[in-house]
Amino acid sequence: MTDHQKPTDGAQSYAVQKTEDEWRAELGEERYQVLRQAGTERAWTGELLDESRSGIYTCGACNAELFQAGTKFDSGCGWPSFYESVRPDAVELLDDTSLGMTRTEVRCASCGSHLGHVFPDGCGAPTGDRYCMNSLALDFTADES
Ligand SMILES: [Zn+2]
Repeated sequence: MTDHQKPTDGAQSYAVQKTEDEWRAELGEERYQVLRQAGTERAWTGELLDESRSGIYTCGACNAELFQAGTKFDSGCGWPSFYESVRPDAVELLDDTSLGMTRTEVRCASCGSHLGHVFPDGCGAPTGDRYCMNSLALDFTADES
């Protein structure tokens, strides 16, 4: 356990470091746009939207564990939604004032890749938090049973 965690300012160094050229080659254009350029996939298009098996959701860029399937819920917003991350330090939250809105951006704490936004509007979430994620930013591994 290291003690170098600072308040998040978007400039911290991540455990996983790659150049943007390396990310682009590794992820492909579609995932690169979301993960590294903070793009947003079109609502209702994500292939993980209707995924309901138990398992674990990991970062599409670095494979870090991000969300348990049990915290996924149907928010009706058109993107996979979770009510909490697998651990508080699994994700990094940053103020995002782009597009004339004040939102909270969610990034992977291991590699700094963009995942989506978290909204405090509840929308049926037990915690009141709605982590609104891009399918393209996540990988899903179903539990073996
Ligand atoms: Zn990551």
